[in-house]
Amino acid sequence: MQMISQSSEWASVPLLPHQHRGFVPTMGALHEGHLALIRKAQEQNDQVVCSIYVNPAQFNNPEDLARYPRVLAQDLEQLAEFPNLIVFTPRDEEMYPAPPRVRFDFGKLEQVMEGQYRPGHFNGVALVVAKLFHLVQPHRAYFGRKDLQQTLIVKQLIDDLAFPVELVVCPTVREEDGLALSSRNRRLSTEQRQQAVLIPQTLFEVRRRILAGGHPLPELYQFVSEQFAQSELRLEYFQIVHRQTLEPVAHLEAPAALALCLAAYAGEIRLIDNVVLTLKKEV
Ligand code: AMP
Repeated sequence: MQMISQSSEWASVPLLPHQHRGFVPTMGALHEGHLALIRKAQEQNDQVVCSIYVNPAQFNNPEDLARYPRVLAQDLEQLAEFPNLIVFTPRDEEMYPAPPRVRFDFGKLEQVMEGQYRPGHFNGVALVVAKLFHLVQPHRAYFGRKDLQQTLIVKQLIDDLAFPVELVVCPTVREEDGLALSSRNRRLSTEQRQQAVLIPQTLFEVRRRILAGGHPLPELYQFVSEQFAQSELRLEYFQIVHRQTLEPVAHLEAPAALALCLAAYAGEIRLIDNVVLTLKKEV
């Protein structure tokens, strides 16, 4: 493993002209979901860079930023299984030498779901991803489908700013009971951890009902609000959307590529998850 903490050190990890560099941006507090991205990147590239940087610009809530887990020593221990990995840990002074003034506008994509409930979040994500792409200069970048809306924002950023980067979206890694791995899970109490399983259970049940057919949209929405009303979790949103545009689905009609997206609070801890499904036309 090689550590890089400032841009001048990139010269020490050169790439030959025909080689490819894969990039896995993270905010640390690493778990199997992050490690799966790194493994995939290592399969597909000659060199892999994993960044660990808690990006202040993407936190709309200062308390959330303050409480975000920072466990670099543990992270590095986990990364020891990847002998050739380059770990990039940029510092705030280099990432934000002055308050950024550039603003992104992703239109409808950032007005729904995470964008609606976390104003400014995707502006901060786009800012840090653009900066990291410039610094790391990857050929491929690996993101988790767990943050579906983020993957669409990054795709738009790559296309609009012509970054020569291929976006690789990897499946969500889950605990055995279905809970999506997240750095925030480590803040859950034992009770909250048990309650949180309602999130994937609900998403998988709605997917099952949609695929089985005969369940109108209002009934599905009502099912979800009832599930959460009876629990200790507080539902922030549940949306059945088109997977590419995130526009709400008006009718369950095949063919369609859909996503079921949800955010909920366990106490102060905000968790998000989604599952995807495809409605195929019968032949
Ligand atoms: P984060 O450190 O939370 O910013 O996440 C860094 C990357 O890991 C993002 O691309 C996330 O979508 C991805 N990621 C987070 N959790 C998971 C998971 N459970 N499965 C797959 N990817 C994940």
